Amino acid sequence: MRILHWFRKDLRLDDNTALSEAAHDGDVIPFYTSEPALLGRPDMAATRVRFALDSLRALDDAIRRRGSALALAHGDAAATVVAAARAAQADAVYWNDEYESSLRRRDDAVEAALRAAGVRVKRFHDRLIVAPGAVATQQGGPFSVYTPFRKACEAQPVSAPHPPVTRFATHALPTPKLAPLGALGFDDPTAARWPGGEREARERLAEFLSPLDSALARYGDQRDVPSVRATSLLSADLKFGTIGIRRVVAEVRAAVAAQPSLRASADKYVSELRWRDFFAHVLWHWPHVESGAFRPMYDALAWRGDARQFEAWTQGRTGYPIVDAGMRELLATGLMHNRVRMIVASFLTKDLLMNWQLGERHFMKHLVDGDLAANNGGWQWAAGTGTDAAPYFRIFNPTSQGQRFDPDGAYVKRWCPELAAVPASHVHAPAAAPPLLLAAAGVTLGESYPFPIVDHAVQRDACLAMYRAVRPDVA
Ligand SMILES: Cc1cc2nc3c(=O)[nH]c(=O)nc-3n(C[C@H](O)[C@H](O)[C@H](O)COP(=O)(O)OP(=O)(O)OC[C@H]3O[C@@H](n4cnc5c(N)ncnc54)[C@H](O)[C@@H]3O)c2cc1C
Repeated sequence: MRILHWFRKDLRLDDNTALSEAAHDGDVIPFYTSEPALLGRPDMAATRVRFALDSLRALDDAIRRRGSALALAHGDAAATVVAAARAAQADAVYWNDEYESSLRRRDDAVEAALRAAGVRVKRFHDRLIVAPGAVATQQGGPFSVYTPFRKACEAQPVSAPHPPVTRFATHALPTPKLAPLGALGFDDPTAARWPGGEREARERLAEFLSPLDSALARYGDQRDVPSVRATSLLSADLKFGTIGIRRVVAEVRAAVAAQPSLRASADKYVSELRWRDFFAHVLWHWPHVESGAFRPMYDALAWRGDARQFEAWTQGRTGYPIVDAGMRELLATGLMHNRVRMIVASFLTKDLLMNWQLGERHFMKHLVDGDLAANNGGWQWAAGTGTDAAPYFRIFNPTSQGQRFDPDGAYVKRWCPELAAVPASHVHAPAAAPPLLLAAAGVTLGESYPFPIVDHAVQRDACLAMYRAVRPDVA
């Protein structure tokens, strides 16, 4: 049997469910199609396109080393996949499923077109630890709260990783060179920081687990400290599938077997991976979150909007150093530490009183790991409009968050170098520092570093009033 494997967000040979099944069932023709509808989305980030291109080049190289080449097409998915299946005389097309509603609709259309053309289709669950729909509450419904979701998932076995596929069929489909990023109309200043590809992903995982300097060992108690390398930095790899989720879990468990003192950190790490599952399940069960609040009453919030304040937030010029450091890290690297994402998201929604969807879109335009489910879930969590949301009245104080999670100011000083000489005691609130201390540190507020653009205490009260106005249950 000749089987076309349609690569999508599974750009790897190792631990790839549909690809392994295809290799088991027949001769595999590797195929990828780029879609103008996806590339042209207004929230597409140059850094993600670049990461995908890197990963595709690496995938093609790996397939060429195995005697074939990655077939490439460009155009509408249904048309290109059917045309490729016909031209390659494939009996079947296999792929791993996606869970966003627009991608599910696309896949259903491709499946219908293939079946109409007499080609068999097999779709597989691959992307998450637990497939959407595989766990349910006692009433049989989906989980809207994380902790019971996690417990239900923990009761399910984690499958072992699939071994890498080593054989591909030769074929006569087009294998043109991948276009450079610039030819697609994108420019990515962060290119050097996050090279994409299966080998890079495995190296990032190995570094995270390295017995010499294990970031995993620090994960349990320092994952919230943005100046410390204590997290895996695998989010873009998981997004594009340059690493398989079963491989990650298996290697983390192997590290614990070799060094049992890692267990608590490893359990915490796997529970964070399950947040990724959780938000993907939420999106699958409640696709309305793509365009509005999980709890629709929050769609009525009377957000304020000030274009200048939004601009200051995007550029890291709010006068709140931890917020500014995070927003500058995002622009410079395409990533932002999770704790800082929570702080800047709270600041936009609860200090600037701006719609979380503006922040969601800005993040998608810049994040190398930008992912609809995780990003939407993170923003709705921060805004208090989502599933397992922080209650609306729990409002982060950006100054005390900075003092708590960046006590020596190392993170702020890295991204806001104009504050480098301010002592740690004042670096999270320069506007409250004695003028002589600021002068000695070479800081002139309003010139070298901005005054705070809002007063947190005032905004906090305004925010509470704004939320209470849409909560009939709160007096
Ligand atoms: C407002 C906001 C927006 C976010 N947007 C995204 C996004 O677009 N894409 C994205 O992958 N993550 C997003 N996150 C979650 C989290 O910030 C990143 O996954 C994490 O910072 C990536 O770094 P890491 O790989 O070192 O994480 P680690 O701590 O090493 O975690 C390992 C993996 O678990 C997953 N994960 C961890 N925490 C979360 C979480 N809270 N939600 C979902 N998955 C999680 C990620 O895949 C991550 O790579 C967002 C969080 C917030 C608060």
